[in-house]
Amino acid sequence: SGQKQTHGFQAEVKQLLQLMIHSLYSNKEIFLRELVSNASDAADKLRFLALSDGNLYGDDGELRVRISLDEKARTLTVSDNGIGMTQEEVISHLGTIAKSGTKEFFSQLSGDQSKDSKLIGQFGVGFYSAFIVADKVTVRTRKAGAAASAAVEWESAGEGDYSITPITKDSRGTDIILHLREGEDEFLSRWKVESIVTKYSDYISIPVELWQEEQPERDGADGEKIAAVPGHWQAVNKATALWTRDKSDIKDEEYQEFYKHISHDWNEPLSWSHNKVEGNNNYTSLLYVPKKAPFDLWNREARHGLKLYVQRVFIMDDAEQFMPSYLRFIKGVLDSSDLPLNVSREILQDTKVTQALRKGCSSRALKMLEKLSKDAEQYQAFWNEFGQVLKEGPAEDFANKEQIAALLRFASTHNEDSTQNVALADYVSRMKEGQDEIYYIVADSYAAAKHSPHLEVLRKKGLEVLLLSDRIDEWLVQHLPEFDGKKLRSVAKGNLDLSKLDDDETKKAQQETEKAFADVISRVKTALGEQVKEVKVSHRLTESPACVVTDEFDMSTQMIKLMESVGQ
Ligand code: ADP
Ligand code: MG
Repeated sequence: SGQKQTHGFQAEVKQLLQLMIHSLYSNKEIFLRELVSNASDAADKLRFLALSDGNLYGDDGELRVRISLDEKARTLTVSDNGIGMTQEEVISHLGTIAKSGTKEFFSQLSGDQSKDSKLIGQFGVGFYSAFIVADKVTVRTRKAGAAASAAVEWESAGEGDYSITPITKDSRGTDIILHLREGEDEFLSRWKVESIVTKYSDYISIPVELWQEEQPERDGADGEKIAAVPGHWQAVNKATALWTRDKSDIKDEEYQEFYKHISHDWNEPLSWSHNKVEGNNNYTSLLYVPKKAPFDLWNREARHGLKLYVQRVFIMDDAEQFMPSYLRFIKGVLDSSDLPLNVSREILQDTKVTQALRKGCSSRALKMLEKLSKDAEQYQAFWNEFGQVLKEGPAEDFANKEQIAALLRFASTHNEDSTQNVALADYVSRMKEGQDEIYYIVADSYAAAKHSPHLEVLRKKGLEVLLLSDRIDEWLVQHLPEFDGKKLRSVAKGNLDLSKLDDDETKKAQQETEKAFADVISRVKTALGEQVKEVKVSHRLTESPACVVTDEFDMSTQMIKLMESVGQ
């Protein structure tokens, strides 16, 4: 058999380990959730591969996780009979971080423990959390289908390096052996471990088992003898897939822990929606809105989408076909009874079932957001994280345009500050008598929008203007021509006719001004010649001497700048 080799951790792993141990200590018991979560993923992956190769189960088809405690050796071991890992997989999965967003994550670390611990939570803690309570971790693993002699042992003290040794392992799957740090003996208590499992891992769909010592024969209350029970493995969780259970039986905490498991997010979700659909299509969806945007929200290659199951069998992670891109922040599970078990990403691409599921899931997600929007504070928290993504909606999802429009929030001259919290419906409810358009301005920044000379006349007339300054805004308004029958109207484009809203006296004064300036206008026109389309007396400025206006159907100055910035 081969030799023991020593490998150095990737620099980021070392940094992550240090951070983890120091920042997460107050929440140390979560290591068990992470290890059980990985064991459950390993079972899911094996079950999926076994769909096409039943031999992979060998004579061990009952997938489960076992936690054993050894007081003498002071070890806690999490064992699964799932997919296992090859030597190459061990080196890449337990020696490096392959996650997208890793670079962004490390660049945001500040050295401030309480801030950084929140960031780690967002990043996902995973396997390395074992080192919070262990000063040495041994992983023994054998890939499904591999020979007993082709197993591998990984060992590390969680500092600079780890070792890899070829070993023989009798059974398939992975043992994670934690050599507990001094002072961590509480994790040798069966009662303690059981309570952590029921708190964090009840939703795991395979049994999580603890050893139950033999119970000797004893006397019952009525003098009868109660027979001895030999020692045995006992499941301490419910061991049914959470989404298959009845809504009324599921506690909020269970929904929350399940979210952490599927999302690898450490925070609680903001809200969720659990639906069983029967009829033309039969499926269950459990969708979540996260509290915090992931690091890779704006990374085009970032994976997103739902965890797909077919008849309770895990099929794939990140099935992006069921959520449009503007809802890519939604996490969750979709379990369909209509798709075939051998479904692949390619097949998913163009089935009728996929389209129906996508429609159903999008509409559930929008309903969930609508419900969330009833709570202004919660919705603001959501909007601040994901609002810019949702703004892609009107361009992408024509069918749900109205519903999406109702979910949008904007900064406005109605507010003192730049908070985006004005719904289009709020705006409409404040429209002036005779006003039939929704006014907005797009600029490079909130300050530029707010101080734009274009607003002067509207301010004077007491008209509210939406102040748009996100990169996506110009794109958004192009795809949102109206709301509730009211046209959205740029105050910087075309001939802004506010005369309907004027009283007669103002109108008369304006006509007089135009007459008085007719001469000036014709001279300016001659002077500028071909450089401008038109020169007019404008009533839109009250304080600034002049401003540039684009034609209604021309590109706005903002759009021109945007095009220039991408090299057009
Ligand atoms: P994540 O679960 O978010 O991918 P982890 O740090 O928890 O990140 O685990 C890293 C990787 O190590 C997993 O993606 C998986 O490939 C592998 N792994 C961890 N534990 C196991 C296990 N018990 N069985 C098989 N593979 C595992
Ligand atoms: Mg994990």
